[in-house]
Amino acid sequence: MSGQLPVAAEADVRRASVRLIRADGRAFAVVLALNALAAGAGLVGPWLLGRIIDEVRGGAGVSVVDRLALVILGCALTQVLLARAARYVGHRFGERTLARVREEFVERALALPASVVERAGTGDLTARGTADVAMVGTTLRDALPELLICSVQSLFILGAVFAIDPLLGGCGVLGLVGIWFATRWYLRRARTAYLAEGAATSEVAEILGATASGARTVEAFGLQRRRTLASREAIETLRRTRMRTLFLRNVFFPLVETSYAVPVVAVLLMGGALHARGAMSLGAVVAAALYLMQLVDPLDTILNRVEQLQSSSASFARVEGLAQAPRATSSAGSPAPVDDRIDVTDVRYSYDRGGEVLRGVDLTVRPGERLAVVGPSGAGKTTLSRLLAGVDAPSSGSVTVGRVPIVGLDPEQLRRQVVLVTQEHHVFLGTVRDNLLIAEPAATDAELWAALAAVGADDWAGELPDGLDTELGPAGHPTDGSRAQQLALARVVLADPHTLILDEATALLDPTTARHTERALAAVLEGRTVIAIAHRLHTAHDADRVAVMEDGRLTELGTHDDLVAADGAYAALWHSWHGEGRPAG
Ligand code: ADP
Repeated sequence: MSGQLPVAAEADVRRASVRLIRADGRAFAVVLALNALAAGAGLVGPWLLGRIIDEVRGGAGVSVVDRLALVILGCALTQVLLARAARYVGHRFGERTLARVREEFVERALALPASVVERAGTGDLTARGTADVAMVGTTLRDALPELLICSVQSLFILGAVFAIDPLLGGCGVLGLVGIWFATRWYLRRARTAYLAEGAATSEVAEILGATASGARTVEAFGLQRRRTLASREAIETLRRTRMRTLFLRNVFFPLVETSYAVPVVAVLLMGGALHARGAMSLGAVVAAALYLMQLVDPLDTILNRVEQLQSSSASFARVEGLAQAPRATSSAGSPAPVDDRIDVTDVRYSYDRGGEVLRGVDLTVRPGERLAVVGPSGAGKTTLSRLLAGVDAPSSGSVTVGRVPIVGLDPEQLRRQVVLVTQEHHVFLGTVRDNLLIAEPAATDAELWAALAAVGADDWAGELPDGLDTELGPAGHPTDGSRAQQLALARVVLADPHTLILDEATALLDPTTARHTERALAAVLEGRTVIAIAHRLHTAHDADRVAVMEDGRLTELGTHDDLVAADGAYAALWHSWHGEGRPAG
């Protein structure tokens, strides 16, 4: 889809990670310190075991062995406790950081201009806000603390081997080189291979799903052979991509598993030779070998988690990408509208894909008038209403209210000027009061009740168990379609804009609720400028003026009677509708 939301570059993801760690720097430092202490305690065991061996060979008694064994036990216990504390602090750090990521995400999502969200598709934003944020969350909570623990442990273990003997340490590190190369080889290929597998899986699901849901069409047009071929091709691609990832795993995992033994073997060989020459005690060799065997667990975890880190960094790039999306322009500092007049001046507009939809529209809406915009489907009426409501900016020309561009007004200012009334009568999770205060946060209870009364909702609202504090939404008090519409209209009353844009195609036309809300709507329209995108010609008949749109241009403008007398496009439309007695448009 065109106009997708941006994805952050790797450098930006890195910067964002550093910023998140800094924001909770103390907790992060504590996690690191606790991990280091735990890893240090873990090092004592193998070293003491080596000591025991040397003491026994030197003829020491049982009491010495017992004492050392007790110390080993103590250290093991200390390590377990410290590691638990580190994990606890780590998880708390992860949760707090995740909360920060979520808050930032919500804040940025709310700052997106409606047109950007519309272009990108709400699906993309939802996927980022759910799956991607969850992925980042798991990484922050589980993978990152574990990676930290294991990295610190590995470093300490290697350090201990070096401390026993630099030569043995060197052997250990050399033995690990194979794992490093194997991992690099794998990671370089894994990302593309897994992405290809994912894409192939989606393709198969898409083709099979489309064939199944369109089975009738496939049959009617005799497309069976073509669909079968396409499915086969997609399945073959999927098979190939799966074989590829299987191959990568089949090479990588056995290679790594066997490589774990290499440093241990190297140390035993080198240590054995040194011991034979009397250059090293048996205890030291055993301790070094034990250390390197201890290295397997953290290394294994690191390798597993690194892969997770890779895929979650892709998610983080999508979450962080929101920071680069344009923000709704704020009018802080820009002048307030001087009056209620709306001017459309030489407005042209094209959607991302496709040619010009509006081709030079000029129109002045007089305060208090009722203007009906009519015209054939596709003429650009809905597009014009979006520009008038400040949802989108014109490609060129201007749409102003009181000489200020409408699209530059911040939401707070905008809703005092112009409100678009559609059928999007959403009931928000929360109380009746929450649902109304969205439109006017400073409203008093008396004002809320007055707004409810204006739209005829005070009777049912008055019977709610907790009055304005009654919870609405799926888990709360049920709200049917007409009540949701009434709430939406009560919000319009509270926002008190001087102008309403009414798209008849989508506004309040649900026949089952129309009767309930028609009066409410009439009350809301009272005393305001109304620009109605009219799909029913009787709306046009009742309007003060009628604007006719054809092919992106405003071709006629005048009262109903004038336009009928002029015998142009509107007259033709009116006669055909009137003659046949049914709506047009
Ligand atoms: P009307 O409301 O008069 O039916 P619209 O403003 O909906 O006309 O559409 C005007 C033209 O713009 C049509 O050709 C339509 O196909 C095109 N259009 C509308 N919405 C979009 C969009 N989101 N992306 C691309 N083209 C669009």
